[in-house]
Amino acid sequence: MANDPKYAPVCGIYCGSCELLGPQCRGCGYVEGKPFWTAQMEVKVCPLHDCCRNSRRLEHCGLCADFPCPVFLEMRDPAMSDEEARKALEARQAGLRRRKRIGTQRWLAEVAGGEKG
Ligand code: SF4
Ligand code: SF4
Repeated sequence: MANDPKYAPVCGIYCGSCELLGPQCRGCGYVEGKPFWTAQMEVKVCPLHDCCRNSRRLEHCGLCADFPCPVFLEMRDPAMSDEEARKALEARQAGLRRRKRIGTQRWLAEVAGGEKG
């Protein structure tokens, strides 16, 4: 389901647009912040998910008083170039600010369906 809140992780990406969604990953909310790469990186759970959901009990990092914290700013896909990572970080921050403003359900409708509002 495109507007599934489990496709709205703490970090600001939208799982529905991720090329790895499917057999490799069911979506961050369905795996509780433990996608395949956590095993490769030898961490139990994504540090953003762990901090936001498990420690601070927040729905997403955009609601955090310390946003964007150093952990958030340093989180990147190692497969990306520096420029790609910079753009992805900017997009995640902008997405989270908008999500804070309009709420997750409306944000999901926008990113899943192209709706503007
Ligand atoms: S970076 Fe962390 S919070 Fe974001 S989708 Fe991946 S596992 Fe989930
Ligand atoms: S912004 Fe940083 S400190 Fe705040 S919830 Fe996210 S990871 Fe934790």
